[in-house]
Amino acid sequence: MEMRLSLWFASVVVLTQLVCGALCWGKEGHYTVCKIAEGYFEDVTIAAVRKLLPESAEGDLASFCSWPDEIKHLSQWKWTSVLHYVNTPEYRCNYEYCRDCHDANKHKDLCVTGAIFNYTNQLMSASENSQRISHFNLTEALMFISHYIGDVHQSMCLANVYVDFDFSALAYWFSWRFRCNNIIVKWYHHKTTLHHVWDNMIIESALETYYNSSLPRMIQALQAKLKNGWSNDIPLWESCQFNQKACPNQYASESIDLACKYAYRNATPGTTLGDDYFLSRLPIVEKRLAQGGIRLAATLNRIFSVKPKLARS
Ligand SMILES: [Zn+2]
Repeated sequence: MEMRLSLWFASVVVLTQLVCGALCWGKEGHYTVCKIAEGYFEDVTIAAVRKLLPESAEGDLASFCSWPDEIKHLSQWKWTSVLHYVNTPEYRCNYEYCRDCHDANKHKDLCVTGAIFNYTNQLMSASENSQRISHFNLTEALMFISHYIGDVHQSMCLANVYVDFDFSALAYWFSWRFRCNNIIVKWYHHKTTLHHVWDNMIIESALETYYNSSLPRMIQALQAKLKNGWSNDIPLWESCQFNQKACPNQYASESIDLACKYAYRNATPGTTLGDDYFLSRLPIVEKRLAQGGIRLAATLNRIFSVKPKLARS
């Protein structure tokens, strides 16, 4: 009995450590996603973005891509803080919209994928009914969707913070104690969380190691990879099933898969993460930034290329 119990404890700990979901980018990550997207905007999107952004942006979407992070702590925007991630069950490496997209009080659609669908619909309704005044704030909708498409590509914005009620209270305690935001690791010599490693540290280390701490140089390197090594992949990255305008569920599924395969592997609490982890995970981070940019551009191009209904009739 004792043996079975300890095995059970061990399996709970392993599960709760391995199956945490995905994180969300810091400022550099969001800027990179939006800057890459700008290079793939069609003319109609360039015009729409310029029209919707505040004048101070001078048409540069990237300069406003971290805005949802900057306002989420203000009282009137607190409700948006749940829109930066998705909670997935700790013992499964998958994501399902109906099961996972809700807030702590089970209010449906309040998660990053729900937010992307919502702001896509707001922008679409304005495109389709251009003769009427939209009752949505389309500037906010543009800044939110641009940020959240970045977030859903961060392999740890799908954090799991609950367990199914089939599990006992003890299992819940284990899961709470070891949930992903609480995995304390060392990034080289600095104590931090695994979440922060994927948010910022991998990108910061790459900037220091390869790009003389210059973000524009890192972005140029990713743009060059998109023109060469990844160019054949771009049509697949851009595609969206069933003629939909936005495909966040697909991106969320990829993220939780990558989190399970790479983010949590060899990163148990107390581990020191160094060159091995950095060098093997950096290509994943780079590709997710590039995919986020390509898919943000593809989504906005699909939304803004819709012809107004009145003009079609
Ligand atoms: Zn965010």
